[in-house]
Amino acid sequence: MRKTKIIATIGPASQKAEIIEEMVKEGVDVFRLNFAHGTLEEKRRIIRYIREIEEKLSRPVGIIADIPGRGPRIGMLPRGYLSKGEKVIFRFGAKESDHPHVIPVPQKEILDILELGDNILLADGRVIVEITKIIGNEAEGTVISDGEIRSNVSITVKHKPLPFPALSERDKNFIKFSIKNDVDFVALSFVQSADDVKELRDFLDDNNGDLIKIISKIENKPAILNLEKIIQLSDAIMVARGDLGVQISLEDIPYLENLIIRESLKEGKPVILATQVLESMIESPVPTRAEIMDIATAVEKGVDAIMVSGETAIGKYPVEVVRWLRRVIEKVEVFVTSPRYEVSEKSPIYAKFNRGVVYVAEFLGAKIIAFSTRGFTAMMLSRFRPRCDVIIISNSMKTVRQLKVMWGINPIYSEMKKMTLDELKRVAMEKKLINKGEKIVLTLGWREELGPAQDIRVEVVRE
Ligand code: PGA
Ligand code: MN
Repeated sequence: MRKTKIIATIGPASQKAEIIEEMVKEGVDVFRLNFAHGTLEEKRRIIRYIREIEEKLSRPVGIIADIPGRGPRIGMLPRGYLSKGEKVIFRFGAKESDHPHVIPVPQKEILDILELGDNILLADGRVIVEITKIIGNEAEGTVISDGEIRSNVSITVKHKPLPFPALSERDKNFIKFSIKNDVDFVALSFVQSADDVKELRDFLDDNNGDLIKIISKIENKPAILNLEKIIQLSDAIMVARGDLGVQISLEDIPYLENLIIRESLKEGKPVILATQVLESMIESPVPTRAEIMDIATAVEKGVDAIMVSGETAIGKYPVEVVRWLRRVIEKVEVFVTSPRYEVSEKSPIYAKFNRGVVYVAEFLGAKIIAFSTRGFTAMMLSRFRPRCDVIIISNSMKTVRQLKVMWGINPIYSEMKKMTLDELKRVAMEKKLINKGEKIVLTLGWREELGPAQDIRVEVVRE
């Protein structure tokens, strides 16, 4: 069974039901819907397709609603090319202009943080302008990295926190829509502090979204400075290499990627590696050697999931992208072992208990069959990166879908009639998850409500 999970972004290239179905068959565990693009009507339809396909194939699939957050965008202007050395004017408070060299920036707040010498990053950093003059509501600058400019591209100031609330009214509408349409995760772009995560948690809790998990996208310097606290309050973390590469620097990506992965694993939180994993496949049916190595390295570092974006959203080969991702992951997992979360003397009893379950199962060459209501026991087991198969049975479909993001966890839905090991085994047998002659380790996890005695049963399956 594959351990590293696959997340694919849906976009114009993949929003047909047939393509979504092919992608699930090839191995997609979770789909991401990017709310920075497209209409809500499209999102509603895509979610319906995913749920229908999930049912048809009897394969649970998670859905991430990715919310643009404080990532600001410029207004409307004619498409044009900004060449190196040219002068550009930013007009703050304006919504549109009639020349590509006059850039309307509706958000006046950016002007408040702007200083001479700052670098303004446009279109995900593809165009960079150095500020040379600030007069009134306008700022003048020189293009230092040239490229195409068009309406609505992103705008940020390098190295500076964005002076906007974590959630705009538009974001809040997207989140309410996501709750109504039963998504499993909300991913928040440009998280800058633990308070941002708290704000999202409170908003979800106040709007019937208390079961939705939060993925914090780490994509700028403030997030790196507050990394530990952000990880502690989030349910999962995304290494958003796209924006990190422009907000900080491309050559800092190896260090930052390692840092974010290491800190997430240290907290025992799932971590997702994102952006440009198979970028060349937007145009080509075959990946480059360097891309294959990037996937292999991610698997070796022990990330929970690898995510593709443009590759499946706007690329020519969405299904092939998923196939290549799966093939490489499967091959690499045979010869690498991912780093495990460490328990210490001070660790809580439930952590030690689950470490013991993994130890016993691996030592005996057994499969773990465990029960998890909200996914806590599953997360506990996953963080030890068990070399054996782990099947989690849950009586919540939402939990099952959320566990699709977690390393090494195979989640299965079942209404457990009783909370006993016998019932757990019965469900596993009925669903043909275990075979005759196989060794299994059964557990309900560490449950205070069961009193002082907790059972682990080791069994060789006879019937
Ligand atoms: P995005 O986030 O694709 O929503 O921009 C990921 C990243 O920046 O890497
Ligand atoms: Mn981003």
